[in-house]
Amino acid sequence: MPLSRRDFVKLGAVGLAAQWVPGGLMLPGGAQSGAAPSGGRPIGYAVVGLGRIAGHYIDGAKLSPHSKITALVSGHRDKAERMAAQYGVPTDSIYSYEDFDRIASNRAVDAVIVCLPNSMHAEYTIRGAKAGKHVLCEKPMAISSAECAQMIDACNVAHVKLMIAYRLHYEPITLKALDMVRSGRLGRLQLMEGAFGFPIGANEWRTNKALAGGGSVFDVGIYCVNAFRMFAGEEPVGIQGQVSTLDKGDPRFAEVEENVAWTMRFPSGVMATGTSTYGSYMGGFCRLHGQSGWLDVSPYGYQGMRVQGWCAAGADAGGSMVTIDETSEELDPLQFTHETDHFSQCILENRTPTTPGEEGLADLVCIEQIYKSAGVNL
Ligand code: NDP
Repeated sequence: MPLSRRDFVKLGAVGLAAQWVPGGLMLPGGAQSGAAPSGGRPIGYAVVGLGRIAGHYIDGAKLSPHSKITALVSGHRDKAERMAAQYGVPTDSIYSYEDFDRIASNRAVDAVIVCLPNSMHAEYTIRGAKAGKHVLCEKPMAISSAECAQMIDACNVAHVKLMIAYRLHYEPITLKALDMVRSGRLGRLQLMEGAFGFPIGANEWRTNKALAGGGSVFDVGIYCVNAFRMFAGEEPVGIQGQVSTLDKGDPRFAEVEENVAWTMRFPSGVMATGTSTYGSYMGGFCRLHGQSGWLDVSPYGYQGMRVQGWCAAGADAGGSMVTIDETSEELDPLQFTHETDHFSQCILENRTPTTPGEEGLADLVCIEQIYKSAGVNL
């Protein structure tokens, strides 16, 4: 299914990177929007939604020179108080979802990290921006491209930065693979394959369409969509998807499908095939096939990333195996520290993040096409 003119217009309409005004913008109530902190202190973050991924950010920030957790936002005060005591967050910097907007006056908070179920990303990004805070939002950016556009607009209007948490863009082993592709070590890129999946538990919010937006592509297939776009270095012009569920009576798949497979065609002629599932263990990977070699980038976990392949060209003329892992050149596996520090430095130095809102929007446009071409209404 070709991307329509409207899809491209959606992308183009928000093509301007978030702007920032030195010194920030004064908001009603005296909060200052988008100002970098003075005195060389680290960027202070409020973590919104204290689930699994929130724990990774909190641990990552402990090792970071530029980022510090200074507030917590939760629907469970007791849990938030326990975590606040553990991480040295003052109890007057704990917020509920209802009183989240009070965060505007907390000068120890420069940015929020949105770690909520997918359908809540848009609301808390927009409320965070209106409170004058920069926003680091988990993937998928939202549950529709229309919401993504609203989030980008809200951050532009508030003069705050917006970054989507695509951790592999900041992971050094993945970046080595990207360097190899861009420097031509694989020759001209031809084809890509990717997959990611796991057996979803019963009663997970991920199987509730209203909270998740859709099935496994929103959650894990998005890694493949994003990797294909990153390695191709261009936007797809044709996308075709199919979905299936093996056991129609399985209550986990009452609202979202179990398996998804799709193809993507890029303007250069490069093509990609992706699969994702909530039915079985499928370690995440992207395999790249070029005219002079191939590479496997895997397994998309929080550590243990590895690049393996074979190149005929370049320094290894004659052909040789390639392996890059965490032992190579002492590459540092701290994904959440790298990611948060990147955003902190963007705030401190007034730079646009490598994965701004536009990156999240581009993936949502692709995801909508996968489902639409598969005949699924989102
Ligand atoms: P969890 O279920 O572990 O945590 C979500 C938290 O959101 C809950 O603990 C809860 O926090 C809060 N929450 C508020 N309303 C609801 C609700 N109606 N139902 C459930 N939780 C609610 O999810 P994850 O941490 O795994 O995922 C959160 C986001 O992070 C998702 O968008 C996901 O895609 C993304 N993610 C990204 C990963 C990555 O590697 N980049 C990996 C895993 C997830 P509280 O009790 O404090 O209110």
